[in-house]
Amino acid sequence: MLAHAARTLLHMVLPPRCALSGAPVDAQGMVAPGAWAQITFITPPFCRCCGEMFGFGGVEAGGGLCDRCVADPPPFVTARAAIAYDGTGRDLVLSFKHADRTHAVAAFTPWLARAGAGALSGADALVPVPLHPRRILARRYNQAALMANALSGATGVPHWPRALVRTRHTPHQVGLSAGQRAANVEGAFAVRDSARAAVAGRTLVLVDDVLTSGATARSCARALLGAGARAVHVLTLARVVRL
Ligand SMILES: [Zn+2]
Repeated sequence: MLAHAARTLLHMVLPPRCALSGAPVDAQGMVAPGAWAQITFITPPFCRCCGEMFGFGGVEAGGGLCDRCVADPPPFVTARAAIAYDGTGRDLVLSFKHADRTHAVAAFTPWLARAGAGALSGADALVPVPLHPRRILARRYNQAALMANALSGATGVPHWPRALVRTRHTPHQVGLSAGQRAANVEGAFAVRDSARAAVAGRTLVLVDDVLTSGATARSCARALLGAGARAVHVLTLARVVRL
């Protein structure tokens, strides 16, 4: 009864809305059926390292790896994403990020849990990609930490929102080439001194909203591995797919 009362109260404050279209739905975290059909979920076969879908533009280069992972092996063990960052996926991510549609995290959590099941089963903690304090002031929340927090609640894997810190303000990545993105975020992340002992020897899942070139994921993974992490996996809501 208490749970029901709490839910009713929550609905009075925050009427349940579709995570994508904003249309009214029965329960928080639902996606309206019309919106659901437009989402491209990431499905196998994909690169066993970076998760790039084969046949969607990703090229298998042997051993279950894509051509990019063979040419330039990432520091992370796996990167997995729930949905493609295509037209609908982009709307979903951008409204979550910039339009204060934070209730959508309830819809994303089961998607993330499923996409990242392999990594999550052996993970010691979830580490969200941090925002620079200046950007948190403008946006008021870190969307990666919101997702990691909800995922922690659903899976029981601890959430370490303060393990990583952004050491400098980096310009927006939009419109930059892969090489420019890598230079933009190189050395932009560090493990907090207070977290170094906890990170050492641990298997960590880095959480972010979108995997684009992978430059941010690589930079964060290198910082965590540099502090002695045993392994780093990456889990994002969406990923750019090659078409
Ligand atoms: Zn790959």
